[in-house]
Amino acid sequence: MKKIFVIALWFLFSFPSFSQITFSDETKKYIEFSDDVIVLKNGLLIDGKGSAAKPQQTVIIRLGKIDWTGDDSKANIPKGAAILDLKGKAIMPGLVMLHEHMYISASSRAPRYVHLKQLPVTFPRLYLAAGATTIRTCGSIEPYSDIQIKRDIDLGLIPGPSIELTAPYVQGKKSVFPQMKENKTPDEAAAFVNYWADQGFTSFKAYMGIDKPTLKAAIAEANKRKLKFTGHLDAVTYREAAELGIGNLEHGFMSSTDFVIDKKENEQPAPGSGIKALGKLNIQSDSVKQLLQFLIDKKVGITSSLSVFEGYNSTQPMPNEDVLNAMSPDTRDYYLKNFALAKSSANSADRDRAFIKNSKMEKLFYDMGGLLTVGTDPTGNGGTLAGYGNWRAIELLVEADGFTPLEAIKIATLNGAIALGFDKSIGTIEIGKSADLLVIDGDPSKNISDIRKVLHVFKNGLGYDSKKLFESVKGKVGFY
Ligand SMILES: [Zn+2]
Repeated sequence: MKKIFVIALWFLFSFPSFSQITFSDETKKYIEFSDDVIVLKNGLLIDGKGSAAKPQQTVIIRLGKIDWTGDDSKANIPKGAAILDLKGKAIMPGLVMLHEHMYISASSRAPRYVHLKQLPVTFPRLYLAAGATTIRTCGSIEPYSDIQIKRDIDLGLIPGPSIELTAPYVQGKKSVFPQMKENKTPDEAAAFVNYWADQGFTSFKAYMGIDKPTLKAAIAEANKRKLKFTGHLDAVTYREAAELGIGNLEHGFMSSTDFVIDKKENEQPAPGSGIKALGKLNIQSDSVKQLLQFLIDKKVGITSSLSVFEGYNSTQPMPNEDVLNAMSPDTRDYYLKNFALAKSSANSADRDRAFIKNSKMEKLFYDMGGLLTVGTDPTGNGGTLAGYGNWRAIELLVEADGFTPLEAIKIATLNGAIALGFDKSIGTIEIGKSADLLVIDGDPSKNISDIRKVLHVFKNGLGYDSKKLFESVKGKVGFY
């Protein structure tokens, strides 16, 4: 009897829809709006498709979906609806961020064991607080914990974004990170992909040391199951990965080794040589355009992650006060040490140059018709956090790459949804889609930094209080 009850309950909770979720008391603390019908009126609408922002617009949310959108004057306001007057405020789609993690680089670098620290409490909150309603984790170090976090969010037990889960990294024969399995043969990599796919992971990421035969075997298994496959590569070039059928590549062109002179096939070049080659690259050259065109022809997407790379530049801005205040003391110390190091390091000049070239290539790739997406990668120098780092990554699309704010918003919303194959249900503000949208106290279509002024984050039609979520993790990012 008891067993039947548990199973019935599980089915009830495993397909949550608007009315079925029972939120925990903790999650409820952050939900401001949960009415069946919510009307957002008199707002500046940014649709996510890159169209010009439209003033005096209404969006009607019904049972978690966008029921109607259009001019205020034409809106038919349902009786009994909750109404928010958004004079002076903007409405835009929730962010769809593609290179996220549930961990950060932590404070201790014990010999051999690079310390990566899972943050299951603070990171989901930070993502949601900043307006990321959907994220793809992009490599897992605690896979069962990642699965649990996603499940808990979907069940309403903890606040957080919708998550597309990427498995543990698909590494090759040798790894510097002890958190990654060393796949000695292509067969081993194929079995690895199948194992994690069986556990529920729907996305895979190959890592730097992997060679072509191993990558080929891993991609083939993922393709059989119609799962996504991306890579942060090094031993394999971008062109080679595209030939093998990879779907996406991470870190813009910062991890491309296509232009390293004397690169040996299937071997990682000397550390830093990809960055050096990129710094010297002539972006206008035929070889660059041919590579970009090849990636576009093979339908390979590129995910920009400028915020994590900025943390290695000598030109990076001073640490952000809100970011420092969010951190636990050891996390702050670790970050500030790395910050000082980047400012003084001799390697920074190479990185500064590569950063600029990478930005130009990302813009060129987009202008040529490539699918550019954006992610945060909250690792690196320890200063790129979930949430705050999302905003910085998007700001840098404007500041460094030269996109207009509307293009940057499209990259961070619709393009992310397309890359995940979710563009029928999220990514823009259109009738029938999930009510995943943000209310901003400003105009990010003019000033991209206004995305930092997010007030309410609607996910599946429920409005969360951004400030309260941020407050709840203050001083704790790094603890848990
Ligand atoms: Zn990453």
